[in-house]
Amino acid sequence: MRDYSKNPFIVIWEVTRACELKCLHCRAEAQYRRDPRELSFKEGEHLIDQIYEMDNPLFVFTGGDPLMREDLYDLADYAVQKGVRVSMTPSATPLVTKKAIQKAKEVGLSRWAFSLDGPNAVIHDYFRGTSGSFDLTTNAIDYLNELEIPVQINTTVSRYNLNHLEEMAQLVEKLNAVLWSVFFLVPAGRGKKEDMITPEEHEIVLNWLYDLDQLSSFDVKTTEAHHYQRIKLQRKKQEKRNRRYPASNGNSPQTTNDLGRAPIGIRDGSGFLFISHTGDVYPSGFLPVPCGNVRKTPLADIYRNSSVF
Ligand code: SF4
Repeated sequence: MRDYSKNPFIVIWEVTRACELKCLHCRAEAQYRRDPRELSFKEGEHLIDQIYEMDNPLFVFTGGDPLMREDLYDLADYAVQKGVRVSMTPSATPLVTKKAIQKAKEVGLSRWAFSLDGPNAVIHDYFRGTSGSFDLTTNAIDYLNELEIPVQINTTVSRYNLNHLEEMAQLVEKLNAVLWSVFFLVPAGRGKKEDMITPEEHEIVLNWLYDLDQLSSFDVKTTEAHHYQRIKLQRKKQEKRNRRYPASNGNSPQTTNDLGRAPIGIRDGSGFLFISHTGDVYPSGFLPVPCGNVRKTPLADIYRNSSVF
């Protein structure tokens, strides 16, 4: 078993902050132009070497839009040749051509993640700030399916789509995704506090996701919802009780510790590591607390020794 105090389970590298879209909630506050301070190709190779040496975690290219970097496939190729399992999360823009997807297949990308924040163009395109984004995304997913590249769908839950999650789940199923990664809006970057759902709504959605995960053809994962672990423990405990005392009418014995022992989880800074476009290392993209910079300090030193981590 991997020791998360030494090596992460997953590493995310924000290869650029450039993006053609203007999403309302953009953590990266993406801009159209690339930042000249981005890590260079050489620095990227060195970073990939260091990541590989940390017991070869899962590795994700994120952005901005990773496809705004012309050397992205060369970086991916370098990582794949080393034996790293690489995924990426491009933005749905005209850069996602059939040729780009074919190239990803040739390089050996393990998974392609797309964001869909609504079950239809009206909701999704409003959230993404760009009309046509919904159609572009679903067409690209059809092509990914055709090429048998596993698809992950990311959705950020906010007040804009709270009442459409059932339809979203149906769409995820229809698009043959292997994983639905459900993010809960964090007011970072362009994300606004007033667009978050309430604590009570979080509770309802997380319980609904637990039920969905039992029945759906795809896996369900949450991001920025550590309390999902608590919901899962409570639900499993309740199910066990129901099996033991099927007709208890609520009179089943109470345990002294309802939560039991929490499993070791992956969370910001523990098993999870984020590298910004300029090389700053954060516990996560949603917790942009700089703990060092890979231009000055080896990545493993930062991960293992930073007090924040
Ligand atoms: S697609 Fe991603 S990087 Fe681009 S604006 Fe939207 S959230 Fe930001």
